[in-house]
Amino acid sequence: MELNRTTTSCALWWRTEETAVKVRVDPAKCQAHGECTTHCPEVFRLDDWGYAYTDGDGQVPDGLEESAQSAVEACPEAAITSEP
Ligand code: SF4
Repeated sequence: MELNRTTTSCALWWRTEETAVKVRVDPAKCQAHGECTTHCPEVFRLDDWGYAYTDGDGQVPDGLEESAQSAVEACPEAAITSEP
């Protein structure tokens, strides 16, 4: 595929804050296994007790969508949801 100005503009338009992948940890389900930080340490953090959280609104930085999805699938408590 030939990359031209139109396709570049479309790609930039598609990746807006509204369409970016977001993840959320349900603190009621998290049991501090730490699998999420193994799969995607750039997005998931652990507090002093080992429970997971995300910075800000959980927006996944460009290029980390696959590792964030791996973290979602690896969580043994199904405590992480992603959207869209
Ligand atoms: S893998 Fe799941 S249960 Fe374990 S710390 Fe991460 S969110 Fe919590």
